[in-house]
Amino acid sequence: MMPYRPEPFTDFSSPANSRELAEALIAARAQLGLTYPIRIGGNAIDTEEGIVSLNPSNKSETVGIVSKANRDMAAAAVKSAAEAFKPWSRTTAEHRCELVWKAAASLRRRKHEFNAWLMLEAGKNRVEADVETAEAIDFLEYYARQMLELRERGRKELIPLPGERNELHYVPLGVGVIIPPWNFPLAILAGMTVAALVTGNTVVLKPSSQTPVIAAKFVSLLYDCGFPQEVVSFVPGSGSEIGDTLVAHPLTRFVSFTGSREVGVHIQQLASQVGEGQLWLKRFVGELGGKDAIVVDKDADLEAAAKGIVASAFGFSGQKCSACSRVIAHQDVYDEVLSRCIELTDRLKVGDASEFSSDMGPVIDASSYQKILNYIQIAHQEGRVVTGRKPIDLPGFFIEPTIVADVAPGARVMQEEIFGPVLAFTRCATFEEGLEIANNTEYGLTGSVYTRNRSLIEKAKAEFHVGNLYFNRKCTGAMVGVHPFGGFNMSGTDSKAGGPDYLLLFTQPKLCSELL
Ligand code: GLU
Repeated sequence: MMPYRPEPFTDFSSPANSRELAEALIAARAQLGLTYPIRIGGNAIDTEEGIVSLNPSNKSETVGIVSKANRDMAAAAVKSAAEAFKPWSRTTAEHRCELVWKAAASLRRRKHEFNAWLMLEAGKNRVEADVETAEAIDFLEYYARQMLELRERGRKELIPLPGERNELHYVPLGVGVIIPPWNFPLAILAGMTVAALVTGNTVVLKPSSQTPVIAAKFVSLLYDCGFPQEVVSFVPGSGSEIGDTLVAHPLTRFVSFTGSREVGVHIQQLASQVGEGQLWLKRFVGELGGKDAIVVDKDADLEAAAKGIVASAFGFSGQKCSACSRVIAHQDVYDEVLSRCIELTDRLKVGDASEFSSDMGPVIDASSYQKILNYIQIAHQEGRVVTGRKPIDLPGFFIEPTIVADVAPGARVMQEEIFGPVLAFTRCATFEEGLEIANNTEYGLTGSVYTRNRSLIEKAKAEFHVGNLYFNRKCTGAMVGVHPFGGFNMSGTDSKAGGPDYLLLFTQPKLCSELL
């Protein structure tokens, strides 16, 4: 087995690669509007009512229609996953890893096809789409290797006692309900699903209603690669209806969720109740929101800082929980950083995500669009809006990248997650005050510090309370295995996707001790 290496990104300066992607887009466009079934325990079910997935760059384009499960179907999926658990949990780790590696190889071969769907359904530009497909491959490659490590670890990590043979077996938990987000509808979905499967659990996957087509395609890929259909059920539907049914079901053993703080808190509360006949306390693994800050010290490389800020704030229209939404700049350099960020932001070309020239695509849907515009209204009251004033005349959910300057640290646009291309600036008198402002939210996901001062780097390491802290680089773009990802406080359950501890969350250690 080759050691794990992150998947290289496609070089789009090569005409052959661009052509391949353009062809994949044509092929995907020819499939727009197709329907996709629910999958429960090996059965494909079509329903009258479906979730209509629209292209956020062009609302009149239907990406696909995905059948919509009701409560009974959700309950049936959990029951069927519970029946499939015993045989699947007894398969060998090698067998499950082989299937995961086949899936990784298949995704690699079909990279541009998945890139095309990410562009059409999620509104990612080609670079963002390609980075995401690479990340999905990375999760698969990495978690399969981690599974083998985990098994070895259980054999090796105990203190030996003469006359005894002791082993720790990391055994799977049972049925997992997987609820991934729309913002990484392939990578995070694949990572969450495969982490649970490779450790020997069976799963019921409820995709996001904004991006169910990509989810359906990934589930089909798993089946094509030999995953038994019984171990992965696919139940699209409304969160409040079937999401709650799945989470509350007494046969559900754990819930793995990535999404908003509000929904995460609700799911955690629901999962903490013990249902009739339930034999365990459910485990909840959550990756929630962020209100991530970049702190710029007076001794920073300001050009690098401005570039990092703009990339972190406006990559994928700011729709990442890792996105920078607050800049806290030392008063001596505040004006310079701000004006350079405005210049760089004004150069970004907003447009249809499937056009290769677009730097920034749309936001995901009508309700996000409205919510972000409301925050821009609030920004006008709370500070000085210095970019993003032009309306965009395109048929999708487009919002100009918006910077609001001179905002107080306690303002709503400095405290609440907007999940869109809105960036607030505030000034600090000292670096220490900058860190205090950075820590002054209920979240703690990512953060970045730009400084040339070694002692301030050490100070930030001790005091900046976030799960992913970066120095002199952007605060987005964590790589699997390289930058394990996940945050503190209301950003989640302190778990680290793509890190060496992640698979433990889907297992329970069983000690086997034998007298020799
Ligand atoms: N892992 C991604 C990053 O580091 C963000 C994931 C998310 O937004 O949920 O940028």
